[in-house]
Order: sequence, then C-alpha cells, then structure tokens
Amino acid sequence: MSESDTEALLDAIERIDERLHDEQDYLTELDSRIGDADHGNNLARGISAVSEKRDDLAEMALDEAVKTVGTTLVSEVGGAAGPLYGGSIMSASQELDGGLDAESALAFAEAYREKLTERGGARPGDKTMVDAVTPAVHTFQRAIEEDDLPPVDALAKAVDAARRGVAYTVPLRASKGRASYLGLRAVGHRDPGATSTLFVLEELLATAEA
Ligand code: ADP
Ligand code: MG
Ligand code: MG
Repeated sequence: MSESDTEALLDAIERIDERLHDEQDYLTELDSRIGDADHGNNLARGISAVSEKRDDLAEMALDEAVKTVGTTLVSEVGGAAGPLYGGSIMSASQELDGGLDAESALAFAEAYREKLTERGGARPGDKTMVDAVTPAVHTFQRAIEEDDLPPVDALAKAVDAARRGVAYTVPLRASKGRASYLGLRAVGHRDPGATSTLFVLEELLATAEA
C-alpha cells in the first residue's frame, strides 16, 4: 500500500468532478428523453459530496477511501444510479486492500460489474449502464490476462469498448429502470447511465496517463 495510490484516487476524483459538472446538463438532457431529467444533477451532487471529503480521504488507505466514495454516493445521489454506482464501488473496494496494481485493478473491475448486475438485475442489451460496464470489463480482462498489455493500455481499450457500448444502447428499447416504461419511445436515445459510465472511465484513463 503506498500513499501514491490514494493520491491517484484524489487526482481521479478531481477530474471526474470537473467532467461530471461539465456534462451535467448533457446527462440531464439525455435523462429527460427517456427518464426523469435528473441523472446529471444526481451525479453532480454526488461527486461534489465526495470532493468535500477530500481531506479525510487523503488520510485513508486506498480501499477505505474507495469504500468511502461508495458510501457517500449511496447517501447523496439517490434514485437508481446512487445505489448502483455507490453500492458497486463499496463492494468492489475490498479488492484494493493490497493497493493498486494490474491484478487488483482487474479484480476491482470484475467485482464492480458483478455487484452492479446482481443489484440491478440488468443484463447487456437492457439499455442501462451495464451496456458500458460489461464490454469495458471484459475487454480490460482480455487485454491484461491474454494480451499481457500494461494496465494503462488495457484501460484505453476498455474505454473504447465502453464507447461502443454506449452507441449500442441507442437503437435498443429499455428493459430496466424508468426508460423501460417507454417501450418503443426509448429507441433512438442513448442511455444516460451508460454515458456517464463512459465519462468516468475516460477520466480514470486520463488519470492513469498523467
Ligand atoms: P433514476 O432513474 O432513479 O432517476 P438516474 O436518472 O440517476 O436514476 O439514473 C438512470 C440510469 O440508471 C439509467 O440511465 C440506467 O443506466 C441506470 N439504471 C436504471 N435502472 C438500472 C438497473 N436496474 N440496472 C442497471 N442500471 C440501471
Ligand atoms: Mg433519472
Ligand atoms: Mg430520478
């Protein structure tokens, strides 16, 4: 466990905070088409609450800090996205108790995907954040375990996979969440939660590349 792991987390939080505030209106607009027009606001409120804990997080080991990010999101974000993002982060944080390396990053990603699908019950193709998370995690896993790529390059591939996953949500009807009430009217719109997941992954990549 090194202090620089927590520093990297704080750097990531700063980037994600800025990005989610930049994209707040866009994410809310996406949610206005197929939901209740609050996704951008929900996430902006959540990441602001996380940023306010910056000084406390700086004193924590990586796994504890990541767990605190999750609990903060659960209590501040509400709606569907709060427990899904926050609960999955909380649960996956255990994988980081030995610090951050390729193996623990992969274990975290897999645990996040597993918890998210278990909690929300959505499968790929249901037009949810799972459509970004699943291809990203599988691509990350293959890149590390089969292609033996360095974690940063594996993450870059995972981000590309998430981007394709977001595009894939456009023609789908939704089977989970509020958008599922719309039937065919959800077709033609990208899913807000898959889109915010892509933004978070892009900022994690920017952190890893810095
Ligand atoms: P709410 O729908 O409660 O207003 P948000 O607008 O913050 O919550 O989040 C909506 C996003 O949550 C959707 O775009 C979708 O990606 C995701 N979502 C909703 N239900 C589920 C679910 N059961 N499993 C996975 N993701 C879901
Ligand atoms: Mg909403
Ligand atoms: Mg809502």
